[in-house]
Amino acid sequence: MALDDHTLKAIREAADIITGSKYVTCLTGAGISVESGIRPFRGPGGLWTEKGEPSMDGYQRFLKDPEAYWRRRLEQDSEFGISILNSEPNPGHYALAELENMNVLKYLITQNIDNLHLAAGSKNVLEIHGNGQYLRCIDCSTKWHKDEFKLDSIPPYCSKCGGIIKTDTVMFGEPIPSKVLTRCFEESEKSDCMIVAGTSATVTPAANLPMIVKRNGGVLVEVNIRESHISYSCNVNIFAPSGEALPLLVEEIRKL
Ligand SMILES: [Zn+2]
Repeated sequence: MALDDHTLKAIREAADIITGSKYVTCLTGAGISVESGIRPFRGPGGLWTEKGEPSMDGYQRFLKDPEAYWRRRLEQDSEFGISILNSEPNPGHYALAELENMNVLKYLITQNIDNLHLAAGSKNVLEIHGNGQYLRCIDCSTKWHKDEFKLDSIPPYCSKCGGIIKTDTVMFGEPIPSKVLTRCFEESEKSDCMIVAGTSATVTPAANLPMIVKRNGGVLVEVNIRESHISYSCNVNIFAPSGEALPLLVEEIRKL
């Protein structure tokens, strides 16, 4: 789809703002991964829209019976897990990695668990909901890559502290590991510009991050396929697929 003049103008405007900013960060969500074939949870075509939302007390149920959780996981990986396994970064992910390379983007905060930002080459990444490729001890937060972990009991226990191990992905009802959450708030406080891409930023605590930037007098640049909950708070709205808009944004920034 060719972008219309209005959208191209918004991209040029965003490039100006970003170039004039001192500390640019980015918040991404499911929308940026849709173009890599990963189904979103919410909204049209979402897994939860079709199958119903998972129970809000997933973590409590895990704590009550971690063995049952692990048995379920081993029996069949979820449809979502399989779509992650077969997906690759798209031009939107690569554009954000490029912006970091250019020293324009300082930090990237993502709500996605699909590892695609890291796969695209981004280094300064905070994964607010964890990473589906890793396992984590719920007590000391030590992480293991799934491929490197030897499952010798169900549930598995941490070799360092004896805590129960689960996937790194944050469940409903599970507190976000405080270290990563603190870092997300720190980065937002530092930002005088935040790019909000592929997310309507409706789910807290991620939803609070752009508001911190705004409150501190910073600017928000939205890249979403359509108008969203956050649109009215943003200084520039780019309504286009991030896989098309972000590479153009990089091009425009290079010209400046
Ligand atoms: Zn541990």
